[in-house]
Amino acid sequence: MQIQVEEQELCKLTHHNRTFICTNSECIQAKKLQLQCFKCLTLQHTNQKGIQKFKNTKSVRHLDDFTEIKDILNNLELKYQGRFNFLQEAQQRCFDFQKEQIQKIEKFPFHDYNLIKLAKADVDNHIQIFINELGFYQRMLNEVKTYNNQTSKSILELYTRNDDKFNNDIINKQKQVFDKIRTNLAKRGLDFQKMFANQEEKIHQADERLKKLENPYASSKIFKYSAIITMLILISNQFSILTSKNQTQIQMKETILIESDMNQMKEQLADFQQENIIKIEEIKNTMDSKLISEIEYLKLYNQQLKVEMIELQKQFKDMTLLQNQTITILSQELYNLKEYVSISLNQISNFNSVQTINQNSQQKVIISSQDDNTIILKLDKVDENINEVNSRLNNTIEEMKEYVDYRILLNKQYFNAQRYLLGSIELDYPIVLLQGFKVYLDQFLNQSLTQQQMENLGNSFSSTGIACFGGISVKKPTHFALMACDYAFEMFTITESREKARKSKSSDNLFWYYVPRISIGFAPQEKVHLYLADNYDPQDPKRFSIWLDHPQGGKRIGNQTLINTTEYKMALYVIQ
Ligand SMILES: [Zn+2]
Ligand SMILES: [Zn+2]
Repeated sequence: MQIQVEEQELCKLTHHNRTFICTNSECIQAKKLQLQCFKCLTLQHTNQKGIQKFKNTKSVRHLDDFTEIKDILNNLELKYQGRFNFLQEAQQRCFDFQKEQIQKIEKFPFHDYNLIKLAKADVDNHIQIFINELGFYQRMLNEVKTYNNQTSKSILELYTRNDDKFNNDIINKQKQVFDKIRTNLAKRGLDFQKMFANQEEKIHQADERLKKLENPYASSKIFKYSAIITMLILISNQFSILTSKNQTQIQMKETILIESDMNQMKEQLADFQQENIIKIEEIKNTMDSKLISEIEYLKLYNQQLKVEMIELQKQFKDMTLLQNQTITILSQELYNLKEYVSISLNQISNFNSVQTINQNSQQKVIISSQDDNTIILKLDKVDENINEVNSRLNNTIEEMKEYVDYRILLNKQYFNAQRYLLGSIELDYPIVLLQGFKVYLDQFLNQSLTQQQMENLGNSFSSTGIACFGGISVKKPTHFALMACDYAFEMFTITESREKARKSKSSDNLFWYYVPRISIGFAPQEKVHLYLADNYDPQDPKRFSIWLDHPQGGKRIGNQTLINTTEYKMALYVIQ
């Protein structure tokens, strides 16, 4: 740093250089910031009464605080790098935290655009305000290289600043900003809980209405309705996470999940203890924040599951209601028929009583009993229909249960993929661990990968599905020799550059490219060299590149160039 002292003119009284200033807080507060020659400064600080009355005992105040400007600037220069570094670190912590929170929000299982936008804006605003404040101190550090009217205030402030206190204040303030952001996000989580409570209440009301509809038939043996109600109760137990009016039960389940997570972390801690005692302190420090973010994520995951369950239950209720209506119509028909039977029986007995009087009526009785047989046949038919409806309902209930179990499993598997695989490049990865994934592409490198194939693949699964793409050696078909996993849309986004790959939002260490008619693949860095396929850094084991629409199949898996071979395959697995 270049030290310059401007306006270093001579004092008009003493002809000495004006290079001194009093650094006592009293004078700084009184804004006495002009440079003086030593004599004038001493004179200004001399007790005037002392001069008049006791010339030998005159006293000079602040004498110890008289400091030459070059010493002050030297002192600042010595402290500059430390102070600069401190501000840089604080700023970096802000960026890291901001990124972490934004990533968390983007992985949020709900895809309500506005909610996500608001949550992100909230994080950005809080961070920006604090970074602006850091910027102010940064500018202050940089502007104090020369002493003049504009900089004198900053220079003396920096000179007299207690760095320990200043740094502590900044760190505390930063913590408060981070806490505030976390609290705001947590509050948004609470809003969701309220939303669920409302939905549960609606289902409860629908339940009540349904029961009222069921009641008129509950006592009738013909409809075996009690069995259906029992099944409904069984199903409700399946949905107990949702329909339980007892909130503590939900919380207990969450607690169990959280506890198992905590146990897992405790085990990890024990392992590290054996491996390396020094690492323990580090882990302790990061454990808290990790645990908090894990718990938050688990909560969100549970909530997503709940929404799906509620939707399923609603569909189920609609279906049940339809069945009930059918049964009601049938029962009405049966009732009408019964009425008809009893009227006919009355008629028969009437005929019987007049039989002795009128022989001619004999014929009518025969006709009447024939009618009676037809009615009994019709009754049997209605019974059959009701049985059929009941068995259809039971089958549907069974299917529904199976579907719910299947969805829960699939959700868990998708969640695991999102948590453990998203954004990562894996070497020698066991395919058996890709639970819930389906194979969409599996072909030898002696076959060309065509543009048409790519377009068909892009249309065969959801863009938010998680795709694992890479190469498999025929010698070890149980493992991916090299693969990368990411949201399908990351992999299928078309790029143009043959020098730069596109950074994945899921990770800092994964870059995709998909240049039509040239090649598709991934790399751990942005820099690629698509000489048709990527031939940048031929030794890099984490680069994967496949020719597109080339008459020959193949190209690169890690550090191997593979053309027209049946020793290796390319494969794409997707879970959605
Ligand atoms: Zn002073
Ligand atoms: Zn002077």
